[in-house]
Amino acid sequence: MRYMTLRNGAHVPALGLGTWGMGERAASRPAEVEALKLGLDLGMTLIDTAEMYGEGGAEEVVGEAISGRRDSVYVVSKVYPHNASRTGAIAACERSLRRLKIDTLDLYLLHWRGGIPLAETVEAFEKLKSDGKIRAWGVSNFDPADMADLAKVAPKNACITDQVLYHLGARGIEWDLLPECAAEKIAIMAYSPLGQGSILSHPTLKSVAEKRGVAPATVALGWVLRQDGIIAIPKAARLDHVHAIAAAADLRLEDAELAALDKAFPPPRRATPLEML
Ligand code: NAP
Repeated sequence: MRYMTLRNGAHVPALGLGTWGMGERAASRPAEVEALKLGLDLGMTLIDTAEMYGEGGAEEVVGEAISGRRDSVYVVSKVYPHNASRTGAIAACERSLRRLKIDTLDLYLLHWRGGIPLAETVEAFEKLKSDGKIRAWGVSNFDPADMADLAKVAPKNACITDQVLYHLGARGIEWDLLPECAAEKIAIMAYSPLGQGSILSHPTLKSVAEKRGVAPATVALGWVLRQDGIIAIPKAARLDHVHAIAAAADLRLEDAELAALDKAFPPPRRATPLEML
């Protein structure tokens, strides 16, 4: 596994596990818990969840998967924008902790920017931090203008990550957000790094994967992880998928492969609005 050090000193794997879609059906829960446990065994010890996923169900699945090994897992969750008020964020965090059956979140994110003033959310996040309910906080789906607004109301160096859509088919952040966050040492957490499966049948991706003897998903993630400062959080509920995503930690793409992927999935040539799901 490749590791990186976040702005607050936390040491985390560059490849973690997503949970969107988990915890929605009781019958699927045992398999979802097994998939997360396998991912942890394979070194993907960062888990991303949210109060939104399965309306708390995904956090319960995560709670079960990390039971007995909490200290070796970096747990990330997110607050709904409509809950991110001075008191609402604190109550939402406490509900998340109960569902996860843990005392402290490693990282708490504002899921996307809503109508509540950022200063209020920041105040709640700082209170949660000083009360020991969270170790750090960050944001999600923030574009460069949102980050600039945040910088005006947040303590220096307090926001440690921006979780945004990033995969071969969605490269807009390379123009502005990615270099700007790198300069500030704010980690980018790449969500939907497999494009929710949409990019995996692309002929160029398949051809690179076939020549390497790996799955297209492995190459798609190896591509996201080609640069420092980025954490990828793919979601896989099938065990064979979990093995394929874990293999990306050992994949180093060569220049010719990266050039072929650039041709098939061109980098941005101008600023574009931040894409989000
Ligand atoms: P994703 O990780 O890009 O793709 C997940 C899909 O790919 C699932 O259908 C999964 O199938 C499939 N898959 C996984 N490994 C595969 C493989 N080896 N071969 C073929 N298919 C494979 O999409 P995502 O779930 O949207 O994003 C990942 C995580 O990012 C989420 O789960 C969530 O934690 C986070 N996220 C955050 C936001 C936000 O607004 N902050 C938005 C979206 C996502 P199976 O599950 O059947 O294995």
